[in-house]
Parts: sequence; C-alpha cells; structure tokens
Amino acid sequence: MEQTLYADVVIDISHEALDKIFQYRVPLSLRETVTPGVRVCVPFGKGNRETEGYVVAIGREPDYDPDKIKEILRVVEGSLSVESQLIQVADFLKKQYGSSMIAALRTVMPVKNQVKHREEITIFLSLEKEEAEALLTQWERKHYVARARFLKRLLEEGAMSKEEAVKECKLPVKELRKLESDGRIRIEKRIIYRDPFAHLQKKETAVCLNEEQQTIVDDFQKRYEAGEQNTYLLYGVTGSGKTEVYLALIEQVLKKEKQAIVLIPEISLTYQTVRRFYERFGNRIAVIHSRMSMGEKSDACERIRQGDADVVIGARSALFAPTKDLGLIIIDEEHDGAYKSDTSPKYHARETAIFRAGLAGASVVLGSATPSVESFYKAQKGEYILWTMKKRAGNALLPSVQIEDLREEFRRGNRSIFSESLRQKMQERLEKKEQIMLFLNRRGFAGFVSCRNCGTVIKCPHCDVSLTYHRNGSLRCHYCGYETAFTRQCPVCKSPHVAAFGLGTEKVEAALYQEFPGVRVIRMDMDTTRRKNAHQQMLQAFSAGEADILLGTQMIVKGHDYPNVTLVGILAADLSLHGQDFRSGERTFQLLCQAAGRAGRGDKKGEVVIQTYSPDHYAITTAAEHSYDAFYEQEYAYRNLMGYPPCAHLLVILIQCAEESQAVLTVMRIQKMIEQSQESGDDGVQILNPGQAAISKLKDVYRKVLYLKHADAEKLLNLKSRLEPVLEKHPLFAGVQIQFDFDPMNLY
Ligand code: ADP
Ligand code: ZN
Ligand code: ZN
Repeated sequence: MEQTLYADVVIDISHEALDKIFQYRVPLSLRETVTPGVRVCVPFGKGNRETEGYVVAIGREPDYDPDKIKEILRVVEGSLSVESQLIQVADFLKKQYGSSMIAALRTVMPVKNQVKHREEITIFLSLEKEEAEALLTQWERKHYVARARFLKRLLEEGAMSKEEAVKECKLPVKELRKLESDGRIRIEKRIIYRDPFAHLQKKETAVCLNEEQQTIVDDFQKRYEAGEQNTYLLYGVTGSGKTEVYLALIEQVLKKEKQAIVLIPEISLTYQTVRRFYERFGNRIAVIHSRMSMGEKSDACERIRQGDADVVIGARSALFAPTKDLGLIIIDEEHDGAYKSDTSPKYHARETAIFRAGLAGASVVLGSATPSVESFYKAQKGEYILWTMKKRAGNALLPSVQIEDLREEFRRGNRSIFSESLRQKMQERLEKKEQIMLFLNRRGFAGFVSCRNCGTVIKCPHCDVSLTYHRNGSLRCHYCGYETAFTRQCPVCKSPHVAAFGLGTEKVEAALYQEFPGVRVIRMDMDTTRRKNAHQQMLQAFSAGEADILLGTQMIVKGHDYPNVTLVGILAADLSLHGQDFRSGERTFQLLCQAAGRAGRGDKKGEVVIQTYSPDHYAITTAAEHSYDAFYEQEYAYRNLMGYPPCAHLLVILIQCAEESQAVLTVMRIQKMIEQSQESGDDGVQILNPGQAAISKLKDVYRKVLYLKHADAEKLLNLKSRLEPVLEKHPLFAGVQIQFDFDPMNLY
C-alpha cells in the first residue's frame, strides 16, 4: 500500500496569515495533481464550510492524530494564478537554497494592503438640468444657504470633489449622504495610488538603435515570435547602450500584452536610471525599492496586480512582483553581488528569475559589461544565448588605462598616496577645469590597527574582526557598531607602538586638500551618505560641477554618466584582491572595469590610472586592457583547477550558537552524519576545511562552518534535503541556528 500523503494548505494567502497552515490528507486519486502552488477546495472550520486554499507543501508525516485530519475535496481548475506561481517559486527557494517553507513564502508574498489608500471622492449631479434649477429656486426661497450654494456650483461645473462640497460650500457630510440616497447626486470613489515618480513625464524620443543593438533586438523578436523561451546574456562594454536594448525588448513584450520585470542593483536604482524608463513608458511603470514606505510598496503591488502597471523596476525583491502575465525578466549588472540574498533563503536572483520565467513562459535577459564567471560559462556551454556589444554607442572611445606600481614609487621615495603620474594628471585636469573621480575600496580613515612591536591586531571584543580607526580618535567595529577610544599602548606586550595601517577615504580627502590647495572635493562613503537622499544629492552636485573631485567607495562606480569626467584614479586596486575568497579576483576585475568605465563618457577621451602593489596580477592587467575574454580564460582555469563554481558547486552549512562548545559539537555531529550517509550512498561529496569560519565570532555568537563540494549540484541538494528534516527536528540541535547557502558569494 502506498504511504499516505499530507498537504499543508494556506487559506488566506496574505503575508500576515502565512503561519496559519492547515494539514489535509491527499486522497489517492489526487496524488499526482496536488503539488505546491495548486489551488484546492477543502472542508474548513467547525461547519466544514467548503473553502479554497493553496497547497504550500507536501509531506508524509501527520502533524497530529491522523484520524482527525480532513481530506482535500478537489483541485480547483482554472488558469495558473500569480499566487500559485509564487508558491511554486517559494518551493524552489526552499529546495534549492535551504530554508523553512514559511521563510520562503514570506520572501515571495507581497505585503498585504494594511495601509489605507488615499481616496478621491467626486460628486456628480444626477438630476436633469431643469429639475435641478427648479430645486435651486426652491432652496433659495427657503434660505437653505449651504445647499443652494452647493447645487448652484454643481450646476455650473457638473462635478466637484467632496472637499469642495464640505469645506467651501459648507455642506455637512450628512446632507451629502441624504442627497445621494434621494437620488439627486452620485458619489464616486477612486483610489489614488502613491507613486513617488508620478511627476515624471513621458517623452516621445526613442533613439535610433545602432547596428549592434538592432541585430540583438531583431534576434529577440524572431525568437520571441516563434514562441521560444530563452535566457540571454547581453555582454556589452560600459556605454555600449544596453539600456536602449532593454527598452526596445520591453516594448516588444508590451505589444503582446505581457509584462516585464527589470532588476537593477539597489545602489544603482537612482532617479537617473528610473527616469529613462519613465520617459519611454510613462505611468505604466511601477518602481519597488527598499526605501519606499509600506504604503508605497503595497500600492505599487496593487497597480501591478490590477494590470495598471506592466513594467516593474526594482532591486532583487521586485522579482516577486505579482505580474499575471509575465513575458520578460531583465537583470541589469547581473554580476552584482547584491543579487544574492544575505538572509535565509539565501537565493540568487539570477537562478530564481530563470525558474520563475520558466513557470510563466517568459524569457530572461542578463546584462553586464563584466558578466559573472557563472553566466559566461553557461553562455559558452550554450545554455544561454550570448549577445555581444563591443563598441560604445555614439562611438565614444574606451579610456586608455595605465598601471602604476606602488612598490616602485616607494623605492623612489614617494611617500604620498598619489603616484607621481596620477598627481600630474590630476593637476592637468584641475587646470583644464575637467572633473576627476577617485576610487577607494575602503571606508573610514584607516584600515586595521595593530602593534608594530608584537603584531597584535586590535579586534572587536564581540566579533572576530579588526577594529577600524576613525579620525575622531575612536576605534569602531563595522559589524556591530562597538566603539572604543584609540590608545597607543598594546594590550599584549604593553609597548607604545600601536598604530593604524592602511588607507581610508578620510585620509585621502585630507591629502587632497594638502596637495591641491583650494580643490573642491565631494567625499562619498558609508559615513557621509547615511542621510536619506544624501547619495542622490552628492551625485547631483558633482554632475552640476560643484566639485572638481568625487572621491568615494564602490558607490561611485555604478552607472552614472558624467561627460566632464576625463580622469579616473583607482588608488589601491589591491584592497579587494587579497581576500581569502575565491571570487576576489572576479570582484576586483569587475570593480576596475566599472570604475574605468566612468572615464570619457562625453566627447573628450578619458584616462584611467590604476595604482597597485600587484601590477602583474591577471585581474589587474586584463582590466587595464579592457579584455574580459582574457580575464575569463585565466579565471576559468583557476576555478577549474580548484573545483570552485561554476566548475563545481559548494554547499555551506553555517552553524551559529552563543555557546562555543555546543557549536563545536554540532559541527562534529553534522560532519559525522554526512560521512555516514556518504558510506551508504557513496555520493563523493567532499568536506573542505571543517569547522573554520573566516569570522569565528559575530555579535557574541560563535560561528562554525562546513563547506561541501561536488561537481554535481544535484548531489549537494539531495544531501541537503536529507539533512534538513533531521537538523530541524532533532533535540540535539535545539538552540543552534543552522543555515544553508548554496554557491555562496562570500566566504563565511
Ligand atoms: P550601458 O547601459 O551599456 O552602459 P547606456 O544604455 O547607458 O549604456 O548608453 C550609454 C550612452 O549612449 C547613453 O547616454 C545613451 O543615451 C547613449 N546611446 C545608447 N544607444 C544609443 C544610440 N543608438 N545612439 C545614440 N546614443 C545612444
Ligand atoms: Zn604589542
Ligand atoms: Zn563587533
């Protein structure tokens, strides 16, 4: 006899009710059809009222007495609703990345409309003109002043808002209701959606696509018309006009009455970027980002659900927008690390988009000037269709790049932050009134603080990370915010030689004022952009020419066009190069290319200076040559040799516990479980470096980690599915937080 299956069913599919899950038995006849996402009819409550709900999970274990579990009545036929699709996406997140179903459902379900909509209430006259005039005469005679004033105005204007009636004509709301019930007026309500971009105007000026762009758009059209469903990788150098391609692709999808979702990394989701979409599609756009209020967010979702908006633009989570008839998902800057969620389920937007598109019959376009090694690998294998754009649109030239060896500068006695060559070029630009961008991959005044006598690094007492020196004389932890006063005396050897190392934006700013008296600098880092809109305002000020130099961290390298910037300086390319992370080469290459791409966006040719202590590292030399292909070749060889993604896959098990001994025990137990299951199943899963976490303590919680490696992703996912129920239920693991991460973006 086959084992009984049970289905978890949610009745009220809203964010708030997700934890109210009811278990039902799956009748034998429905075993094949009842899967997550399917809509079912069930007996509900005391009276067994027939109620519809959604299946969110299937299991074999009854949660309570099996005799008391009711049975699903039938499957509700009909088209696959958005909710069904999103539940299936949640099921995918759970299986692929490891998380509870509730956490996965919370991730995909839009927030409920708890916030009241603003309504616009309009009053219309229901009476014929003669009738109304007769009534007016009658009211005037009886000295019904307010009523007469109201009716006179309504006769003249045909309609008025409720505010006008109440505030200006001084007609009480009670009277309005009476007039309505007497059939003399009609009151209409319309919801006004909060739309922070509503003031932008649609423009009718589509650019004429160049040949490279047109070829791509034609290829898409041909395949789209033929009903093909593909993932495309649009690899186009910075400034090649990828956004224009996106706009043209969206237009085709809209023509077929389908919707499009465009993902942009949160940090690039600025007024400038959104404006280009508004100018093409006007109010058919809905924007979703994390700085929106709950009300704005739920309004945006409502407009999407109603079909009032058919182009959704947003950061990672916009992927779950409730579009009924999705035709296309675009992921701009697909290599960006922000597409990976850092809370459980730790999903990657790229893989999730491909899954969601599969359900909806939609295509996916991934765009980047520096594609992720993963995506390029898939394009090479033919899994994605590769589109290439090698020229800058409008034929602006790529900047020339020069590498400056800082070791050489040091030997020559240059103790400045700026190499002689960079200093000279800056001087020239300042004289010519052209602008400069300086990029530093660090924040704060200096890097870590250590003792020059014994080498002790001063660390946060709550986290296993070094503290950072700030100019006000304090040491801060960037993870938990711990702050303490800087002292020269070493806590270990008691020598007075503790000092700050490294380079930070504040220090560079100070050096700029010293070397170039009178220079105007805008410094952008986490500290100066904390205020809402600060980021935006600083970029606008720079764009308006209010400063000569824009100095900043990562946040300045993202897609802004400054035609007057002719020099970009990368002060210390090494800062991101020497992480222990297998992606650090890739990340450095991407940052350098992006930073370099900021130079020479206008008519004037741009120059880039990369300062580094590792002038021969391939991530730096290939970025200087603008050669993605050369970079990819080397990086692929390295990943292949080491067995890192995409050549093999990694599954991370992160164990967190306030008790160190329990964390250690847990790692050992899990390791043993894996080894035992290996012996029986012979999966060949390799356990790397057991127990070591790069950060071993964070906010007083101990962290242990297991890295599992296998060439076949399925093997790892199967192992995870086998472990998960044991880890969730077994009392040995109570009080320990266990998280999974599949193909991580950072090491733990
Ligand atoms: P990317 O997203 O690839 O970095 P953009 O789409 O931002 O590039 O385009 C870079 C610049 O080139 C923009 O100012 C854009 O208006 C312009 N541009 C793009 N396509 C064309 C075209 N076909 N003709 C003229 N200018 C174009
Ligand atoms: Zn010391
Ligand atoms: Zn800390």
